[in-house]
Amino acid sequence: MKLIVTGGAGFIGSAVCRLLAGQKKIEVLNLDKLTYAADLRTVESVSSLPNYRFVKQDICNRAELDRIFDDFQPDAVMHLAAESHVDRSIDGPSEFIQTNLVGTFTLLEAARDYFNGLSADRRSKFRFHHISTDEVYGSLGDEGLFTEETPYAPNSPYSASKAGSDHLVRAWHHTYGLPVIISNCSNNYGPYQFPEKLIPLMILNVLHGKELPVYGDGKNTRDWLHVEDHADALFTILTEGRIGEKYNVGGCNEVANIEVVRSIFDVVTRFEFDAVKSDFEAQVRFVTDRPGHDWRYAIDPSKIRDELGWEPKHSFESGLEQTVKWYLANRAWWEPILKDKYAGERLGTVK
Ligand code: NAD
Repeated sequence: MKLIVTGGAGFIGSAVCRLLAGQKKIEVLNLDKLTYAADLRTVESVSSLPNYRFVKQDICNRAELDRIFDDFQPDAVMHLAAESHVDRSIDGPSEFIQTNLVGTFTLLEAARDYFNGLSADRRSKFRFHHISTDEVYGSLGDEGLFTEETPYAPNSPYSASKAGSDHLVRAWHHTYGLPVIISNCSNNYGPYQFPEKLIPLMILNVLHGKELPVYGDGKNTRDWLHVEDHADALFTILTEGRIGEKYNVGGCNEVANIEVVRSIFDVVTRFEFDAVKSDFEAQVRFVTDRPGHDWRYAIDPSKIRDELGWEPKHSFESGLEQTVKWYLANRAWWEPILKDKYAGERLGTVK
């Protein structure tokens, strides 16, 4: 199978490349614009494999996409490229509209033209897998779970742009017959996550004895999934999911933000006692809530479990401990990011 992975130098896309580029009978072309969130060191372990290649490209560039489709002749596209950070979407939504909406539209059009030119046999095998978020469903109250039938109600510019891209993908299936699958996943965590996101930011702040900024009263709740479980789910959906369907992916690990931060504090202090300057209560700082901050996300993963037999392998407890250990052991990865790319001025948030 020849597979284009867009956004393969980002957090989740790189986990997909690391999972698939090592496998027999799969050729991966990682297509990424290399924005601030990208890092080719995340795919270093596969970069010299014969079945992996990288191309720096913007999904908004139609002419180059056409050339890449013609050259590579993919059997499938896994579309992960996106602007992904909610706080950045509040500060400046235009990049989110450009990449998440215009970029997805451009990629769909390139895929449609390419698909129409394939033989009937190759058309029957082609797949366009769009990777999305549970944030498109908006906010839950204290009860209930997001199912594939939950109506869309996005509340941030990020989630609105992802919701719009989901609708485009759905429409390209119903209108033009493009064989698409959409998956909507809960919050991911794990190695190589850019340190503006909640879990890596808090690990590094605990380590450096800095304040731990938490929105509101910290009781907003998220459903956490290890990135390797997500990558595994994505490949299962691509190869075994039904065309035109949606699949929700989640780990059934609902945790309030303040408890996530407390667990990180506990694990980091267990491993790096000397680095910690104070106790947890003294280090946490509750800050003005994010505008439009969703209260609770929680996925009902029964469709992917019952239909495709997928289940996560990591518990949140062991996955978080593994993630903390990874950040402690891989300073060489995040130190240059803190120094050069990102001054660490942003608050810790969830996606
Ligand atoms: P990320 O920000 O770490 O990576 C995004 C990648 O896309 C980067 O490598 C970036 O360079 C690339 N990119 C951005 N604009 C591009 C463009 N115009 N052309 C080509 N490449 C471009 O994001 P992530 O956390 O890995 O998320 C990947 C996908 O999964 C996104 O679509 C996101 O909406 C979705 N998702 C993320 C989470 C999560 O918790 N991180 C959860 C559910 C779904």
